[in-house]
Amino acid sequence: MPLADFRSPRLFVDAALAAGGRVALDRNRSNYLGNVLRLSAGETILVFNGRDGEWQATIAGRKRPEHLEISAQSRPQDRLPDLTYAFAPLKHARLDYMVQKAVEMGASALQPVLTRFTQATRVNSGRMRANVIEAAEQCGILSIATVGEPAPLDRWLAGRDPGRLLVFCDEGAELANPVAALQAEAAPHGIDVLVGPEGGFAGEERALLLRQPRTLRLSLGPRILRADTAAVTALALIQAVLGDWSGAKGR
Ligand code: SAH
Repeated sequence: MPLADFRSPRLFVDAALAAGGRVALDRNRSNYLGNVLRLSAGETILVFNGRDGEWQATIAGRKRPEHLEISAQSRPQDRLPDLTYAFAPLKHARLDYMVQKAVEMGASALQPVLTRFTQATRVNSGRMRANVIEAAEQCGILSIATVGEPAPLDRWLAGRDPGRLLVFCDEGAELANPVAALQAEAAPHGIDVLVGPEGGFAGEERALLLRQPRTLRLSLGPRILRADTAAVTALALIQAVLGDWSGAKGR
């Protein structure tokens, strides 16, 4: 991994970044830098916007941080693997956790999918986006995962590119080594991994999933995992075998 600076605070900003540029700080960000991190004019942080890489930025302002002076690029923009994490939304804190973990694991898109036994049908997309940004800031991830609008399972499946691999995490699948199962899938163009709700998938949903082209029904071991655990486990396996943990370039 290229050596990144993990000590300096890292802030997401929604503005173009280039040497010599200046970025105005809104109230929230000014408050965060000045009152939460207790930084003042002259101190340096790192900023990124999901497009232009990571930059060193010096805080400026008379009484409180008012803007950032952008100096040198510290890391070029990277690209996440084409990996969508599709999931039945959970409630509150467990959803926050799941979104943060999916971002840490390198998912490039998050897609809430509504199934028959989904507990939370109203999903706060703004809150999910805030969790994506917070996880990226903390973990030094330079690309911001997209957050899709919640879609019913059948509609989401109908709109998918059928050339993508669908990794359907199914506790009802026959126990089989998941590493070998993923290795058998030759370099797909894009992967969607689906984890169901705490109540599992209904019979007709499972049947619909198994009718999709290029579906891998993946077993995550002999125990039933909670959905947030299944998320981390499935994403780790996929990243290790087919994604950007494998050291292979260009996937
Ligand atoms: N139907 C289950 C619970 C579902 S667990 C029950 O008996 O209550 C929530 C989701 O996590 C599942 O829909 C599945 O996508 C995933 N999952 C949990 N354990 C799994 C396993 N051992 N293998 C594959 N997927 C699993």
